[in-house]
Amino acid sequence: MKKAIYPGSFDPVTFGHLDMIVRSAKIVDELVVGVLNNSAKNSLFSVQERVNMLEELTKDIPHVKVDSFDGLLVDYMRECGATIIVRGLRAVTDFEYELQIAQTNHVEYPEVETIFLTTNLKYSYLSSSVVREFAAYGGDISKFVPAQFIDRIYAKYNIKK
Ligand code: ADP
Repeated sequence: MKKAIYPGSFDPVTFGHLDMIVRSAKIVDELVVGVLNNSAKNSLFSVQERVNMLEELTKDIPHVKVDSFDGLLVDYMRECGATIIVRGLRAVTDFEYELQIAQTNHVEYPEVETIFLTTNLKYSYLSSSVVREFAAYGGDISKFVPAQFIDRIYAKYNIKK
């Protein structure tokens, strides 16, 4: 039973994340989308709101669950019996950081392997911060996030469309 975790902030979830979830769910037996509850980060959406959005989005994808965690990812993985970490690589700029984290996690928990999926070309420019930046100024985010979340995102900036 290959249980994997796809950790991230998902603040908010984008089409790039969804693409990663769909593709990695085909590779592993069970995929847990893990929303990091990082109190140091000033997030737009609360952890519960992010979990709710991800649950709405993935409810029909087999073998996918959504959860949140705080503290170290490897500790959470030990608790829930996951041994695979899935991460996305968009550009070289992601690589250095991701390599260091993956190697550190492997040292901390040798049973853990990190697998990387290269981004879908369609979404290689896309990040949650791009979405936040456009939304803050009332920009069109319909190509970035699923339609059902657009109003919720604008609402965070008191923008009515
Ligand atoms: P973090 O704050 O951990 O980077 P994110 O929510 O920004 O969390 O991203 C979670 C994961 O999804 C990361 O592995 C990131 O590289 C990947 N990711 C984000 N956007 C995309 C995208 N457009 N295409 C592929 N992977 C992506």
